Amino acid sequence: MKYGLLGDIHANFFALEAVLGELAREGVDAYYHVGDVVGYGAQPSECLAKLQEIRCHVVCGNHDAAVVGTLDQSYFNPFAREAVLWTRSVLSADEMRYLARLPMVSFFDDFTLVHGTPYEPEMYHYLQSIPEAERSFPAMDRPLCIVGHSHVPVAFFGGKSVSYTLDPVVPVDPKGRTLVNIGSVGQPRDDDPRAAYAVYDTQAKTVTIQRVAYDEEAAAESILAAGLPEILGERLRWGR
Ligand code: ZN
Repeated sequence: MKYGLLGDIHANFFALEAVLGELAREGVDAYYHVGDVVGYGAQPSECLAKLQEIRCHVVCGNHDAAVVGTLDQSYFNPFAREAVLWTRSVLSADEMRYLARLPMVSFFDDFTLVHGTPYEPEMYHYLQSIPEAERSFPAMDRPLCIVGHSHVPVAFFGGKSVSYTLDPVVPVDPKGRTLVNIGSVGQPRDDDPRAAYAVYDTQAKTVTIQRVAYDEEAAAESILAAGLPEILGERLRWGR
């Protein structure tokens, strides 16, 4: 089986469409999203409708939680807070209900889906360091855990000592423990403005981080047109 792995779309429908075009060409069997469907971008409804159309499994991100009021938004910077309030003002009651029902963690055959880290998922820790990975491995009961949140792709391997790789092809040891942060579809922060996503190939036992260029100018313009903070569009051009 091949699974399409998405994360941190952040209401960027231009990026989402580019990624889904690539995944359709690859012929993936199912879609999974590690949270933050909304927040920052100007097309939350389009993204929510598309994820439901493709029957994507979705877990709750901190922006999703803030929009429906289950996470205190004082934790956010002023631009993110403004986007949370804007998003809340444009979503329908059905869309709000969809976000409110998202689980914190989802378990599948051999992998787990969570926004931040498998330990204390409701605290939304960032998985981007060895100490965070060391705290995460004991909380894993499956070989693979897919996360997002930091918008920077990286993978960690458990064992006697924890190691990491920035290589886009991540081997998954069915007897070991592998944590993969798949980066962000809609707001990359690793100085590469292309949308990030991944494919989990269960036969090849690899998770491959992939990138695709999309129309970030159009996304930035839609943010401006919606009256959202200009910086939220600017940063899409930098991938930062
Ligand atoms: Zn995010």
